[in-house]
Amino acid sequence: MEWWVSMPKIELHAHLNGSIRDFTLLELAKALGDKGVIDFSQVEHVILKNDRSLSEVFKLFDLIHIVTTDHPSITRITKEVVEDFASENVVYLELRTTPKKNDSLGMSKRSYIEAVLEGLRAVSSVDVAFIPCNEEPRNLSSSLLADANDKCNGSMRKKIFVRLLLSIDRRETTEAAMETVILALEMRHFGVVGIDLSGNPAVGEWITYLPALKFAREQGLYITLHCGEVSNSKEIHDMLDFLPHRIGHACFFEEEHWRRLKSSNIPVEICLTSNIKTLSVPTIDVHHFVDLYNVKHPLVLCTDDSGVFSTTLSNEYKIAASSFGLGQKEMFELSKNAIEFIFADNVVKEDLRNFFNSAAKNLE
Ligand code: 5GP
Repeated sequence: MEWWVSMPKIELHAHLNGSIRDFTLLELAKALGDKGVIDFSQVEHVILKNDRSLSEVFKLFDLIHIVTTDHPSITRITKEVVEDFASENVVYLELRTTPKKNDSLGMSKRSYIEAVLEGLRAVSSVDVAFIPCNEEPRNLSSSLLADANDKCNGSMRKKIFVRLLLSIDRRETTEAAMETVILALEMRHFGVVGIDLSGNPAVGEWITYLPALKFAREQGLYITLHCGEVSNSKEIHDMLDFLPHRIGHACFFEEEHWRRLKSSNIPVEICLTSNIKTLSVPTIDVHHFVDLYNVKHPLVLCTDDSGVFSTTLSNEYKIAASSFGLGQKEMFELSKNAIEFIFADNVVKEDLRNFFNSAAKNLE
């Protein structure tokens, strides 16, 4: 197995519906086509198209949501996405998704998230740890390190930690955003740890989501923002002023934004393939990864939408290594460093540190 696949990895920026398997998306679309809900012949080529601009990506998401937004589909997609990440040795996954309401299907934002939780419980190929340990008596034998030791004895199943972030879509109102935050607070016992702001960056105003984001932070939820996906100097400035716990992308930053980002040390979720495919960054050699890595700014490699952009986290590590001349040890350190800015508690962090330290011995 290639080292970028076998190496333990941490995924902090993965949208549930964007991570759907091609096969599943086509199968669900075909089933809706057979029922006459959509015209499959009109959507097949949209699904199969490989390179899309950012605005085309959001058109595809509208289609994906028509096809996927019912309870059984959400449960299935969640199960498959977790299995896919675990199969490439992701040991900690923060999965984000926008809770959706669809009265005609009897779906509320809460029942949508319950369907996601059902998907986590349905995973059978690995053990999924998603209930925070302060909710469940800590079972030492289920720690990753114990798992690693047992695996050496050939007796253990793989394990993945999963935590959930609820996304606010930029099309939503202040009230709808607040509803999502309240749901996140109610769902903390089930591993919901934070709030993400995402959706088409050409839509909506920062001021609309600010009250909900402030409230979320006051209540102890973690916040990550899609920031600088398009050129919008004022919004980037306001977002950095808010001091989120992490940001994603940072493609259209100006000098002053970089200064603020670096002085505040906000970790950046870097999505190389997504940035290149959506033309947010012209070529990989001018990607801001290089500058941030060189100044030791906290950053983490992520997939964004592994289904939509036909990538995997292993592939993102491989691309970074080959494009920026980094070796296996450096990539291992990069992966391990991400432990420090995950949104889970210290018990999980300690477990991951022990696991990576143990895995590091195999590098020498
Ligand atoms: P979901 O929240 O339905 O599970 O995942 C898909 C949604 O995530 C999209 O409809 C969009 O709101 C958000 N999303 C996925 N990829 C991106 C991205 O690259 N940029 C932004 N701003 N939002 C995204």
